[in-house]
Amino acid sequence: MKVEQELGPKLKYGIKKNEPMADHTSWLVGGPADYFLYPTDLNELLEIVTYSEKYQLPLFILGNGTNLLVLDGGIRGLVVNIGAPFSHIEQDCSRLKAGAGLSMAALAKSAASAGLSGLEFAIGIPGSLGGALVMNAGAFGGYIGEKVQSVKLVDFNSRVVNMSRAEISFGYRTSSLAGKGIITEVILELEEGSPDQIYNTMEHCSAERRRRHPVKPSAGSVFRNLPDQPAGRIIENAGAKGMRIGGAEVSEHHANFIINTGNATAADILNLIKAVQDKVKSKYGIELQPEIRIIGEE
Ligand SMILES: Cc1cc2nc3c(=O)[nH]c(=O)nc-3n(C[C@H](O)[C@H](O)[C@H](O)COP(=O)(O)OP(=O)(O)OC[C@H]3O[C@@H](n4cnc5c(N)ncnc54)[C@H](O)[C@@H]3O)c2cc1C
Repeated sequence: MKVEQELGPKLKYGIKKNEPMADHTSWLVGGPADYFLYPTDLNELLEIVTYSEKYQLPLFILGNGTNLLVLDGGIRGLVVNIGAPFSHIEQDCSRLKAGAGLSMAALAKSAASAGLSGLEFAIGIPGSLGGALVMNAGAFGGYIGEKVQSVKLVDFNSRVVNMSRAEISFGYRTSSLAGKGIITEVILELEEGSPDQIYNTMEHCSAERRRRHPVKPSAGSVFRNLPDQPAGRIIENAGAKGMRIGGAEVSEHHANFIINTGNATAADILNLIKAVQDKVKSKYGIELQPEIRIIGEE
C-alpha cells in the first residue's frame, strides 16, 4: 500500500509525509504525523475516510490544535486537518450554518455583524468550531453546545450523517460527538441582539482574557475544574505556580496554564503535568484530571 500514490492524486493539496505536529499545535510541540492531509471539500474528505477504512489506518482529526498535547514520537496513520476550506457561513434569520473549520473568533465576529447574540464568549477561544463542539468549549458562563441545532459529520463508515440537537449531549468540556466522526458543518440557533451591546460584551471578554491569560504558547487550561473550585486555585495553593521542567513552566500568570518558555518538548510538558498532579495529590488528596487531550507516541 502506498498512501501517496493511491490517495495523494485524489487530494488537491496532496499528502505531507512526516509532518511535524509542532507546526500545528498551540503549544508548538509534537513529533511527526505519518501522513498529514488537508481536504478541501466533502468529496476529498470522503475519499480519505474510505481509504483509512479500507486499509484499517488510524485517522486522527485535527482542528486548530489548541487543546492538544501531541507527544514527541508523533502520530501514526493519517492526520486530517479540518481548516479554512470548511469555513463557510450562512445566515437564515436567527440561525447560522457554519463550517467546522471556521475559527471561533471569526464565528463570533460574523454573529456580531449579523446582529446575533449568544456567541460573544467565543471571541477569544483560539480553536475551530469542530474542535469546540467536541470539547464543548465555553467561557464566561456560555458554551457552544447550548446553541447547537444540528451537526453534520462524516462517520467512520464514510456516511454523511446529520444529527439533531436531541441526539447529542453536552457536558462540562465534553460532548457525545467525540468519536462519532469528522464534523463538517453545524447549525446554531442564536438570538437577535443590539450590535452595540454585542460588541461591548465581546470587548469585555477579550480584555478579561488579556488580563488573565499568559501570552506564551499554551493549550489553555490544562486541568478540569472541580465542581466547587477552579483547578488553578488548587494548583496555586499547592505551591506549584512557577514549577518548571525543561522548557515547560506552570504559568506565574495563571496556574492552570502550562507555557512553553521557548524550547519545551512534549515530554517536558507531560512530566510537568504529572508533577503538578503529584504535588496536588500529596497536599490535598485531589486527583486533577487533564482537560487537554494527550495523543501520539512518546
Ligand atoms: C490561549 C488559549 C485559551 C483557551 N481558552 C479556552 C476557553 O476559554 N474555553 C475553552 O473551552 N477552551 C479554551 N481553550 C482550549 C481550546 O481552544 C478549545 O478546546 C477548542 O475548542 C479546541 O478546538 P481546536 O480546533 O483547537 O481542536 P483541536 O485541539 O485540534 O482538537 C480537540 C479535539 O477535537 C477533535 N476535533 C477537532 N476538530 C474536529 C472536527 N472537525 N470533527 C471532529 N473532531 C474534531 C480532535 O480530534 C480532538 O479530539 C484555549 C486554548 C488556548 C491555547
